[in-house]
Amino acid sequence: MRKIWIRLNNDFQLSIITLVGVCSLVGITPYAFFRLLEGNWVVGLVDTVLVTSTALAVGYAWKTGETVRPGQLLAFIYSIGTILVSIKLGVNGLFWFYTLILFNFFVVSPAQSITATLTALFVLCIYGLMYPGELFESHYQLTSFTVTCLIASFFAFVFASRGRHQRRQLSELARIDPLTGTGNRRTMDDELDLAFADHFRYGVSYGLLVLDLDHFKAVNDRYGHKAGDAVLIDFVRVVNSACRQSDRLFRLGGEEFVLLMPRVDAHGLGQAAEHITQTVAQRLHSPGGAVTVSIGGCLLTTAYDSCDSWLQTADEALYEAKRRGRNMSVISGLGTKADNLVPDSMRGANAC
Ligand code: GH3
Ligand code: MG
Ligand code: MG
Repeated sequence: MRKIWIRLNNDFQLSIITLVGVCSLVGITPYAFFRLLEGNWVVGLVDTVLVTSTALAVGYAWKTGETVRPGQLLAFIYSIGTILVSIKLGVNGLFWFYTLILFNFFVVSPAQSITATLTALFVLCIYGLMYPGELFESHYQLTSFTVTCLIASFFAFVFASRGRHQRRQLSELARIDPLTGTGNRRTMDDELDLAFADHFRYGVSYGLLVLDLDHFKAVNDRYGHKAGDAVLIDFVRVVNSACRQSDRLFRLGGEEFVLLMPRVDAHGLGQAAEHITQTVAQRLHSPGGAVTVSIGGCLLTTAYDSCDSWLQTADEALYEAKRRGRNMSVISGLGTKADNLVPDSMRGANAC
């Protein structure tokens, strides 16, 4: 039960499909029975198809976690169902069209929803014009119905588009560090979990680097927080330019970052760490001069039973790099051999 609740809380589209699914099942099932009992076979059959496809779509969404196709199927089936019910029941069936407008905007994207709704409205209007007096009692009624549906669709479209845009912004804010544009700690936790699972299931190798700017407090103290922020933004640009496209950089907090590197061995990890150390020392500057970085890293192995222990080992390697004088990298398991690759001229390049 708790798992169901967590999925409903975390997956907005799944919760919406489930909600409209349950509402449809509860709302339409009695109608299906009633229509079949009174011998109205067409409407009874349409209702039964709606109920069955709703149950299948909701079940599919829960089983696979995929919500786009079930939503599209529901919008398609319900649009056709509403057309058939309206044609069969006349004015009494037309009231369902307003429910369809809302329903479609809940289960598919605003563009797909407005397309499905306007197509269904178009079909009903053509039918009404072809068979006067059957679906609409007068042209006036047809016009009123069309205009009210268009207004309702327009408002639903604006509302749904805005809601979608805000949801996107919110999820971006929750996952991206606003200053540097890198993934934040929450994103990092998720991606480390994925890497962990990937490694143990498919044997994909992963390396982890923890990067910490040297004497960064002094940059802030001497040149102000704004200058410090500019250095952080520049640091991300420099690191991204020095690593592969598949590597993922996250801001752990403050002036500490984590680089997740897929498909790398211990030697490659050491070389990458050295390359970043040197590139930063050459290209990163505060108003007072060069800014350097210390890096600790380790490869993911079966020795780790959690992402935390993996991260902790990289953190200990970082501590060792700081202890040994900064502006260098230490890869756990490789000893401190890698730091010999940094030319002495670059040691202590941090002017602060
Ligand atoms: P070390 O070489 O041992 O890492 O020394 P450090 O000065 O870099 O480390 P310390 O932990 O003493 O200081 C980190 C500083 O980072 C403290 C704070 O002023 C600064 N800082 C943390 N977050 C931000 C931020 O978002 N913007 C700016 N400008 N500075 C930040
Ligand atoms: Mg630091
Ligand atoms: Mg730090």
